[in-house]
Amino acid sequence: MKTLSEKRALQKLRKLKSDFRDRIRQNYEHRAKSCETCETKGACCLDAHFVNVHITRLEAVLIKKELEKLPSAKRKEIYERIEHAIETYKLSAEGDTFSQTFACPLFEQNTGCLIHPVKPIPCIQHACYDRKEDLPPDELQENAEAKIEKLNEQTYKQFSRWLPLPVYLTLLNDG
Ligand code: SF4
Ligand code: SF4
Repeated sequence: MKTLSEKRALQKLRKLKSDFRDRIRQNYEHRAKSCETCETKGACCLDAHFVNVHITRLEAVLIKKELEKLPSAKRKEIYERIEHAIETYKLSAEGDTFSQTFACPLFEQNTGCLIHPVKPIPCIQHACYDRKEDLPPDELQENAEAKIEKLNEQTYKQFSRWLPLPVYLTLLNDG
């Protein structure tokens, strides 16, 4: 398998996410409810019984870089929020991690998603559709995630792990 530097892999990951967003926007999103006029904005990100967004190591690195654009006081607040989410929802890297759900600490009232340009694939794909037949097919997400796994493997030379978003962000900080 071709080897990639982390820098090159991050460029490719950014492009992959941007292409995925364009595809969702052009082909599906116009049939979904508008987030702009949503009366429960953020309910999708803060539903502690629903959100179980998982990311890989490369995505955690990309998200960390996005958070580094914030002023340091704000960044500190966000990392405290991430720690708080891990404690509150008992998130961990052990067991059936996909059964762990949480209110996402990266959602900010009035701003929305703090990492919007690099948000995880399920977050890009998610919207509120009235009709089930209007939803983007699951294969779209699966294909994009398979490509992300490959980028991870080309970069870190090990099988990619998917972990709850807050867990991976703190693992990265712990080295
Ligand atoms: S995805 Fe749904 S709940 Fe979330 S902001 Fe958009 S319309 Fe509202
Ligand atoms: S990463 Fe962003 S879009 Fe995804 S759940 Fe968190 S705040 Fe919402």
